Amino acid sequence: MKIRIADIIEESFVDGEGVRFAIFVQGCHHNCKGCHNPATHDFNGGKLVDTEQIIVKFKNAPLISGITLTGGEPLCQIKAVTELAIAAKESGLSVWCYTGCVYEELIGNLNESDKRFFTLDEISHFLKYVDVLVDGPFIESQRDLTMSFCGSRNQRLIDIPKSRDQKIFIPWTSH
Ligand code: SF4
Repeated sequence: MKIRIADIIEESFVDGEGVRFAIFVQGCHHNCKGCHNPATHDFNGGKLVDTEQIIVKFKNAPLISGITLTGGEPLCQIKAVTELAIAAKESGLSVWCYTGCVYEELIGNLNESDKRFFTLDEISHFLKYVDVLVDGPFIESQRDLTMSFCGSRNQRLIDIPKSRDQKIFIPWTSH
């Protein structure tokens, strides 16, 4: 399968807990004011690569504890990121995903702009392979440089397995 990406950082220390293989997916429809990464917005930008190539790279990365899907908006290429997440879990790696979407919408009520890119069923399937979802758009007025792993106070680090089991939002906490 092909995926359009902006970049890969094979050993990132800032895109989640531990050393992570960070995949910056190209294309984002949120247009957050003050976005830290506007070069990733263009759906025709970046480069097309095979998911298999990426999988081989992270499976052979000796130091990482997991992969991070970031961007851009990873969910706009839901089939490709699901394939990456499944491969990571099969290799014993954890999966973090950043999204400009809000978790409650992803599990129950997609807005019209999100519906252009993915369905609730696709998201539900994808989230089975996600450990931590960092959700919400970047809101400039809530920017906070002191937060770990996110940029504005509205954004949340969500423990997806626990949230799914208990059917309410459960924040992720470092082990
Ligand atoms: S969701 Fe992320 S990449 Fe997209 S506009 Fe907002 S901050 Fe930028």
